[in-house]
Amino acid sequence: MNKIKEKKVFIYIALAFTFSILVRLIWVYQFRHVGSFMWNSQFMINTNDGYFWAEGARDLLSGVHQPHDLSPIGSAASQLTFILVKILPFSFESIIFYMPAFISSLVVIPMVLIARSLGRVELGFISALLASIAWSYYNRTMVGYYDTDMLNIVFPAFMLWALILAFKTKEERYIFFAGLEIVAYRWWYPQSYSLEFAFFGLILLYTLVYERKNIYYYKLLAMMLFALMGLPNLIRLVIVIFIYILYKSKKADAYIYYILGLAFALFFLTGGFTPIWSQLKGYVFKDSIQIVGETLPLHFFSVMQTIREAGKIPFETFANRISGHTITFILSLIGYILMVFRYRVMLLGLPMLGLGFLANVGGLRFTIYAVPISAFGVAYLIFFLSDYLKKFLVEGKSSFYIRTIFISLCTVAVLYPNIMHIIRYKVPTVFSKQEVGVLDSLKHITKREDYVVSWWDYGYPIRYYSDVKTLGDGGKHSGDVNFPLSYMLTNPQQVSAKLARLDVEYTEKDFKIHDANLDKSEKNQVKLPSIMAQLTLKYGFKDTNEFLMSLKTDIKLPKKTRDIYFYLPFRMMNIFPTIARFSDIDLMSGNTVRRPFFYQTNRFQEKNGILDLANGISFDQTKGILKVRNQEVPVKDFYVTAYGKNKKLIRQRKSFDNNANFSIIYMRSYNTFLVLDDATLNSLYIQLFVFDNYDKKLFKPVILTPQAKVYKLLI
Ligand code: MG
Repeated sequence: MNKIKEKKVFIYIALAFTFSILVRLIWVYQFRHVGSFMWNSQFMINTNDGYFWAEGARDLLSGVHQPHDLSPIGSAASQLTFILVKILPFSFESIIFYMPAFISSLVVIPMVLIARSLGRVELGFISALLASIAWSYYNRTMVGYYDTDMLNIVFPAFMLWALILAFKTKEERYIFFAGLEIVAYRWWYPQSYSLEFAFFGLILLYTLVYERKNIYYYKLLAMMLFALMGLPNLIRLVIVIFIYILYKSKKADAYIYYILGLAFALFFLTGGFTPIWSQLKGYVFKDSIQIVGETLPLHFFSVMQTIREAGKIPFETFANRISGHTITFILSLIGYILMVFRYRVMLLGLPMLGLGFLANVGGLRFTIYAVPISAFGVAYLIFFLSDYLKKFLVEGKSSFYIRTIFISLCTVAVLYPNIMHIIRYKVPTVFSKQEVGVLDSLKHITKREDYVVSWWDYGYPIRYYSDVKTLGDGGKHSGDVNFPLSYMLTNPQQVSAKLARLDVEYTEKDFKIHDANLDKSEKNQVKLPSIMAQLTLKYGFKDTNEFLMSLKTDIKLPKKTRDIYFYLPFRMMNIFPTIARFSDIDLMSGNTVRRPFFYQTNRFQEKNGILDLANGISFDQTKGILKVRNQEVPVKDFYVTAYGKNKKLIRQRKSFDNNANFSIIYMRSYNTFLVLDDATLNSLYIQLFVFDNYDKKLFKPVILTPQAKVYKLLI
């Protein structure tokens, strides 16, 4: 009998796993003919951050990396990828593309196992089908979504399984599993601390209320504390194994209070509370961070200001992301409550459900944590109703068939909106083949210590494909980092060139100062003044605006230690207004400076000499008058750019009013119109990307393609 049961568990896991993979292959099927999504005959990944882990894995494979290149060779994601590339017969590209699909689908294992421990394997199967492909879980673990999310639900789901079995069986080995899970999850994702601590808190509360005399719970709590301590992963792993051996010899039972006391003491002494403490410190004691050297209080623009407010997620979005549909979401909550009445241990799912609900304050990415619990809820409700149905049916085969049909139909109904979402969710790859081609060629031109200047969005992919250094990336884009980048892209090349040299040399110099001042015990306590503040003071000013003005003059630049390249892709055009905002600020007062005018459209039509550029903007070609809604302004120049037969850029200009402030550019090869003010027209990005118009004393074109251009800085 037991053997048949085991076989059933295995079959359900295999079926759910296969289902989860197959659904994820819908994307592959949809884009099988899109060559621009491929590189090295494999699809490229579709998440920017993935290139961060990919860079680390690449460096682990090559065995070399450079000081301060920000490559995450110590990260678990990079290390796991490295191991998989070593042992599997697939290409690096294939592994990082398919890894999220295969690894995230492992979530079905703990889900079926949890249901088996409750005596209802089928329930686990249905919930595994739903959880593995539910809206937000799919979005964050689809093929190409190469990020830590692929294991972020698998681990806590295993934790839930271990804890449920610990509660039910009181066996030592489940305490051991819980300890191992905490160590492994922390290795994979250091931020997992809060969720694990919530599990701990819940069990502590339960023990204090109901099980004060049961030493098994004290053993479990002590193990969790040992596993959560602030020591390196390997040391904690050894401790967890040691504690398990100690528990196995029942002699330890007599000393459990001492062990628990020791666990608390060690947890406290090794800084187990530090993650909580440092978060509090961030809020309460903002200025306890030690700043090295003199500084200026500057006002930078923060990335958060450009990201839509995290706090206001409509209920429907929230429900869809957890369950695929508002109705399913509500039913799953009802189901979860019913399930908790029937199986009290399911209360252990609360930390995950709670973290998922934090999406309302912490952002959409949190919803994935609630997915498995709500899947259990709705699956339980389906079985609950089917059991209820049984009362009205005559015993026998027909009753079984009717209930099976009922369960199947309900399952399809629950899965349907999620699968529809997946079919519609056609996420493109981060870069196109042509853009990657540019970065790949750049790799052969640059040295690994060289810098490539671009907007931070492109930092990780640039580093991955070109193996260079960058000033900003997906993890380094605070206002003080973005200001000089934005300034370089939106100001005249004569100014930008100098700032680029200064920013790069000061960034490298800061790494060295930082290292020299690093007090190992308080790693995050050393902070240097922003580079803008350093530069202002270094050049003898008290006002950053005066320093920025001085960039127009012949200032003395630091010694050149490496080459600098500018990477300017066409796709930057779309975010150019956002980029501009980061330097359109008076750093001394925090006020907006001028609000640059930049309008881009590919919707246009011409009628009787009037060029309609959509959104209430039109251009009278005979009078040379631009109409922006009800306002009429004169136009200075009308430019046309296009690629000729020999792939050379052709530029034409028609002048209207020399005193006007606005110009229009028709980029014929891109089917794009730009309307911009004089200052924007003269910016480095527009001059170098749109016109190939570079100052020969400052820049040298290295790669010029329609999709992306690269210039080498000559100073
Ligand atoms: Mg490198």
